[in-house]
Amino acid sequence: MERISSVKVIVKDIRLKKPFRTALREEKAAENAFIIIESSSGARGFGEAAPLTEVTGENLAGCLGFLNSLKDDLIGAEIPRDLNKLLRKIHRFRGFPAGRAAVETALLDLYAKIAGLSFADLLGGRVKESLETDYTISLQPVKDVVDEALELVDKGFRILKVKLGDDPRRDLERVKALRDSLGYDIRMRVDANQGWNPKQAIWISKRLEKLEIELIEQPVPYWCVDELRMLRESIEIPIAADESAKDLRDVLRLVKIGAVDVVNIKLMKCGGPLTALRISDLCEEAGVKCMIGCGLETRISITAAANIAYIRDNIAFIDLDSPLFIDKEPTIGGAVYRNDGKIELPHENGLGVKLADY
Ligand SMILES: [Mg+2]
Repeated sequence: MERISSVKVIVKDIRLKKPFRTALREEKAAENAFIIIESSSGARGFGEAAPLTEVTGENLAGCLGFLNSLKDDLIGAEIPRDLNKLLRKIHRFRGFPAGRAAVETALLDLYAKIAGLSFADLLGGRVKESLETDYTISLQPVKDVVDEALELVDKGFRILKVKLGDDPRRDLERVKALRDSLGYDIRMRVDANQGWNPKQAIWISKRLEKLEIELIEQPVPYWCVDELRMLRESIEIPIAADESAKDLRDVLRLVKIGAVDVVNIKLMKCGGPLTALRISDLCEEAGVKCMIGCGLETRISITAAANIAYIRDNIAFIDLDSPLFIDKEPTIGGAVYRNDGKIELPHENGLGVKLADY
């Protein structure tokens, strides 16, 4: 039996190659928290938290405080004998979902290494042969959106996620211009990031029906769950919830009232890989598909998310593109991106990814 011998909590600057805009905000950089949990034999588990106050309800200082406060519980714990006790304690927190995701990921990564298994095998093994991510085009003038899309398609990407939500008429122009120049072979999803009011959402959604859109993500503000249901009932394009579906409780409610066709799971919102699996399984029971998405995260949490996507068929939409936007990742190993958007997992035990200087 191995014991946890040390816990380190550190911060890394993450910089984007170029600013990324949505209807909510513009992002240029982030500071993410990382936890490294080491066992007596020297095995190390890595976890990442990308706290974002509006999404996870925690800022970096709060997240660091949370992670540091767990050190006493973690050090000396035997893995795997004490793992469930530790996880139950962590899951009891209502706040700090990004912090919880980091600790849980690190504990599972460590356990997988001790057990001599890959992360996916520890959780039951893969059911998918391959994984193909979309590439997200940020909110820009129509011409820039088209130029970027053409470049991406030229590189090999076949699924695009287009950020909308600043103005319904311009949004419609964006999608029309994209279809005019790309044709209909490219799969396209749109995300309004809460940018439309319910009337605008109906107006544009009706018009998007002719443009072969796979799904419309978070058309209305997060609290408008009845409006999501009404929209879903009146248009043919599947409706996805992101900001309305932060955690398992949100998803329970959405599923219960039949508000959505798709739920976007993010480790930072829901609190970790195990809850992500519970959300996927709950949705599957209700006939709701899942997407797996991300914030501004490095390969540490993205590799965990990719593993989760590989082990559930119900996670049918993959939006794990943030490593493609980051300028110089502070990590080594992890998920490998092919030019066509395919994501492959490393062959090592655990996540197969580490911080470059640890
Ligand atoms: Mg979204």
